[in-house]
Amino acid sequence: MATIGLKNLRHSYMPKPLAPEDYALKEIDLEWQDGGAYALLGPSGCGKSTLLNIISGLVTPSEGRIEFDGHDVTALPPDQRNIAQVFQFPVIYDTMTVYDNLAFPLRNRGVGKAEIDARVREITAMLELDDMLTRRASGLPPDAKQKISMGRGLVRNDVNVIMFDEPLTVIDPHLKWKLRSKLKELHHKVRATMIYVTHDQTEALTFADQVVVMDDGVIVQIGTPVDLFERPAHTFVGHFIGSPGMNVIPCQIENGRAVVDGVPVATENAPGEKSGRMEVGVRPEFVTLAAEGIPARIIRVADTGRHRIVETELSGVKVHAVIGEGASIPEGSAHLAFDPARTRVYADGWLVGGSH
Ligand code: ADP
Ligand code: MG
Repeated sequence: MATIGLKNLRHSYMPKPLAPEDYALKEIDLEWQDGGAYALLGPSGCGKSTLLNIISGLVTPSEGRIEFDGHDVTALPPDQRNIAQVFQFPVIYDTMTVYDNLAFPLRNRGVGKAEIDARVREITAMLELDDMLTRRASGLPPDAKQKISMGRGLVRNDVNVIMFDEPLTVIDPHLKWKLRSKLKELHHKVRATMIYVTHDQTEALTFADQVVVMDDGVIVQIGTPVDLFERPAHTFVGHFIGSPGMNVIPCQIENGRAVVDGVPVATENAPGEKSGRMEVGVRPEFVTLAAEGIPARIIRVADTGRHRIVETELSGVKVHAVIGEGASIPEGSAHLAFDPARTRVYADGWLVGGSH
């Protein structure tokens, strides 16, 4: 096991990158603690796989370095980094049995027969593959193959980190939640550092203690699932996480206060002297329909059974409110009020007063 440090990392797939948009990874500084359960969450194309491949050594970064326990490993090939990487699609030996697929990485490293047997049986039991140990992998359904692929990553106990790159893509929806909780359980048992890559917020939030949120080649926030929900460091995080996501509403700053459509809005953070694109962020859970507030037009109401999601519009901006089953919803127009403790000002996307 090891602590993994990424220092001033940048990567471009172009031979002569010039502008920031030429970089798939713009500037990454990050420390993954030994034994942690991390998720790397971001939309497709934001650079997640590039970052994993740099950690495992499949890709050499254009700039910066990678350290394991403080030792520079940037120039080391993948097989000398002791990393297990599980890909989106199964990587297994079709002609081997399930048992041999898992035993193979251990035999390769000269592990003794008894220890191999114990490890293989432990991991296959956890993944519920133990009733098919003697079957050839080729005849198995895709989700069983992917479980074998995951098992091959989990079976080694000499690895610095186990990385999963969108591993549940080929898994049936009804098995997804099961495997997801399995992985969490496995992390508790195996205690290896795990990095789980996904574009799915539910997968990230249920698996990880710490979630690293990426957008467009940069890390926008690192935090616990609660941090990301309660105090988004960037409007992207607020919008990406939550269902529906955080409302992001353009505002003016007048006399040190946020003003939306001429109505002053009390916020948890002071807008200060910031200039740039100013916005107010508030999650739908903290928006109420009140007697006074910002005038808005009600567009539609969706009943989820537990609460209603009211979609409103003010000056061309959609604002959602989550309203309890008991409360009444006026027809046509309403006034919106925001909980001041949960309403924040953002400048150019970043939380004013945050660490950025
Ligand atoms: P993610 O895994 O988050 O979907 P990737 O790391 O695969 O994102 O891709 C990040 C960016 O780098 C994307 O714009 C993608 O098109 C580009 N990219 C990825 N791999 C290559 C490659 N081998 N050659 C050129 N561009 C690539
Ligand atoms: Mg990817």
